[in-house]
Amino acid sequence: MLRRFVLPLIAAAAFAAPAAFANERVSVVATTGMIADAARQVGGDLVDVRALMGPGIDPHAYRQTRSDIVAMTRADLVLWHGLYLEAQMEDFFTDLSRENTVVAVADDLPRDRLRAHDDYADKFDPHVWMDPALWTMVVGTVADALTQVHPEGAEVFASNADAHIAEIARLADYSSATLTDVPESARVLVTAHDAFGYFGQAYGFEVLGIQGISTESEAGLNRIRELVDLLVERDVAAVFVESSVSDRNIRALIEGAAAQGHEVSVGGELFSDAMGADQTYEGTFIGMIDHNVTVIAGALGADVPPRGMDGKLSAGY
Ligand SMILES: [Zn+2]
Repeated sequence: MLRRFVLPLIAAAAFAAPAAFANERVSVVATTGMIADAARQVGGDLVDVRALMGPGIDPHAYRQTRSDIVAMTRADLVLWHGLYLEAQMEDFFTDLSRENTVVAVADDLPRDRLRAHDDYADKFDPHVWMDPALWTMVVGTVADALTQVHPEGAEVFASNADAHIAEIARLADYSSATLTDVPESARVLVTAHDAFGYFGQAYGFEVLGIQGISTESEAGLNRIRELVDLLVERDVAAVFVESSVSDRNIRALIEGAAAQGHEVSVGGELFSDAMGADQTYEGTFIGMIDHNVTVIAGALGADVPPRGMDGKLSAGY
């Protein structure tokens, strides 16, 4: 009896460390909430996922804390975004990948599907979660990474990934149908920074961020003036604040337009680079995008279901 019990433990510890025992969850640390959500959806009961960046946290500016480092060193799998999103953590991940399983989940996306970065010739716009087709590919990469560290879970990961990808497809259908209802002349999305380029590409919106693709580059006064003129000329009714970026520049736009006699309202707060509060619907990828689509469409003149795709949004519109 004792032999039967002890031997598998030794074998497991020797061959599968650190995801040691079959009944122990695979520990995953992810940088953004969106990646953590993908790992939870795909990993289900087999994983224990921790996100480093909570609601309202800006990944362009985030630096790892001491407790983040401890968590990442101990994790079976570390998932980060790549594409220069976590610009302040690049060197850290290069070092960590020498001793731990570290996967940059967006790094292998086909380059011809990516938008150019406005600040760096050799880099790309990292905000790929805004396009359901690209995010689906990322979910596939997360499933591959989980399978790599825990091969016994392969079937579960594959079937969970399929189910989540089907949900993303349903969300994409809802998004297309809802956003098509926005009058064509009103399909202009003005936000604090350029996080919605892929969204614009996917749904036929012109997207204008006050700051560029990274929040690290400051917006100049010229950029503010240019956008104020555009709001007035195009008769744009609403602009949007973001949960992870200061609303200072958006307020400057509204005041600038008002000075020219054009009233612009805040169409709502969007989840650009961080999801909503933990343990809420908006704190999931599906809920985050449902919120954005419903708020944008509603503020720009479409008829929207008051609480989004499945009636789950916490605020009515
Ligand atoms: Zn961003």
